Amino acid sequence: MTARPGRRIRIFDTTLRDGEQTPGAALTVEEKVQVARQLARLRVDVIEAGFPAASPGEATAVRRIAAEVGREEGAPAIAALARCVPGDVTAAAEALAPARRRQLHVFIATSDIHLTHKLRATRAEVLGRIAECVAQARRSIDPADDVEFSAEDASRSEAAYLFEAFETAVAAGATVLNVPDTVGYAEPREFAGLVREVVRRFGRRAIVSVHCHNDLGLATANTLAAIQAGARQVEVTVNGLGERAGNASLEEVVMTLRTRPTRFRGATTGVTSEQITPTSRLVSFLTGIAVQPNKSVVGANAFAHESGIHQDGFLKNPLTYEILTPQSVGLAGSMLTLGKLSGRRGFNERLRRLGFELEPAALDTLYAEAIALADRKKQVTDADLLALAEQRADPVPALVRLEHWAAASRQGESSSGNVSLYYDGRTYRAFAGGNGPVDALLKAVDNALEQIIGGRPTLVDYQLRSVGSGEDAQGEAMIKIERPAPLEGEMIPRTYTGHGLSTNVVEASLRAYLAAINKLLAEHVAPASAQAETPTRPRRVEAEPDFGRTPATGRRLGASPPLDVPP
Ligand SMILES: [Zn+2]
Repeated sequence: MTARPGRRIRIFDTTLRDGEQTPGAALTVEEKVQVARQLARLRVDVIEAGFPAASPGEATAVRRIAAEVGREEGAPAIAALARCVPGDVTAAAEALAPARRRQLHVFIATSDIHLTHKLRATRAEVLGRIAECVAQARRSIDPADDVEFSAEDASRSEAAYLFEAFETAVAAGATVLNVPDTVGYAEPREFAGLVREVVRRFGRRAIVSVHCHNDLGLATANTLAAIQAGARQVEVTVNGLGERAGNASLEEVVMTLRTRPTRFRGATTGVTSEQITPTSRLVSFLTGIAVQPNKSVVGANAFAHESGIHQDGFLKNPLTYEILTPQSVGLAGSMLTLGKLSGRRGFNERLRRLGFELEPAALDTLYAEAIALADRKKQVTDADLLALAEQRADPVPALVRLEHWAAASRQGESSSGNVSLYYDGRTYRAFAGGNGPVDALLKAVDNALEQIIGGRPTLVDYQLRSVGSGEDAQGEAMIKIERPAPLEGEMIPRTYTGHGLSTNVVEASLRAYLAAINKLLAEHVAPASAQAETPTRPRRVEAEPDFGRTPATGRRLGASPPLDVPP
């Protein structure tokens, strides 16, 4: 290999903006901050934290990420999205203010189909708006900060007009020009041709960026072709989350550059690839969106060699079938059994290898939990530790606490459940019948909740899986709920994800439900004395057969802001 140092590719992570537009992936402000912290550990160059004009919650999230993650020494730049309207640019600039380095991202469509049917504006009018809003963005952040202009639907825009739009943006002060394949329509050779021309015309005056969607499964291929054509920034998401079929996946792009440097003239990224697996797990855990087992790089089977011929070759020399190592993406070998816990130090070391850096206080709590688990379970495995540690990563305010539960269930009869919940100085007891013990208990919680907030949430997803294997494996539940009624001006009610972990799956389910409810309450009821406590977590096994509710699985339209679709 003749890899001389090549171009440094800027990794612009949009998991918290485009990724969060994944149907059902909504995160609370606290969860977004957690993801941003992990993205900083992954060492991406830019974190697109959100779309501040979309809602007050979005603005708060961006501002907190700018203040809490974007202020640290060597932190990634923080980006915020704005439509080409003055109010959006103002909101984005205000939210980004606390960060050390900012990237204000302004977008407007340039394809005739969007101009005619969505914007109802002429080409000249759109150029006027670009000039005005890019100049406003330029004035509202520091000269050293970047102003990015995105020509939404660039790949379906007439080239001559697209170049005019870019010329206008650069003249008004844009330093990054983004070429989005908004609808995932391009194919690699054609997309590379477009990017090469943009680089030829503007590459000396601006950083050329790409943003590819995966509607035809080509997002990563298009992104890599664009790098070969001279793009210096790529917009990607963890686990390929994003609008519809998602965005180009960070892990695929980064690991391809690392694995095949000579095909990209030695182009490199600043990403710490060993943080890829912990980041993928955290995002999957907090969004409640499982990674498919055969997903490249981060899927559960990505390093599993099943067939006999492959295993034989692999054992003789891993290079026969392995082009990248599990260690290079932070997979700490296999999920080995941890017979006896080897003291606090060994415990800490083990967690570190699984990608968790904990404060001493959190470490103490977790250690105590692992010791308690070791009393109930024959073996505490890496999978158990991971599950415990992941719960720590998901801060749940303890507004409603579970004091007691009981359920009865027999074949051929309906089940019954009763709960007692503690909230704001009072105990609420409720009873319900149901189709199975979980259903009965959740309905009992709903009855108690009626007394507390006068409404009940809608259950939209429920998954149960076992942690690791073995007859005494812990059960992990994940529940998603929607709040009782959408807020004013909100097209789709917001979802909240809760996790529950227990050796008893009924209790795991109940805890997951309460965790989701606590997140909902924290955002919508004045949090009198909310303090972070621990909830619980998921992957998948089918819902209990006797689980009588119907999880809503229908398609949802554009999950995020009630605005036009961002790039
Ligand atoms: Zn997009």
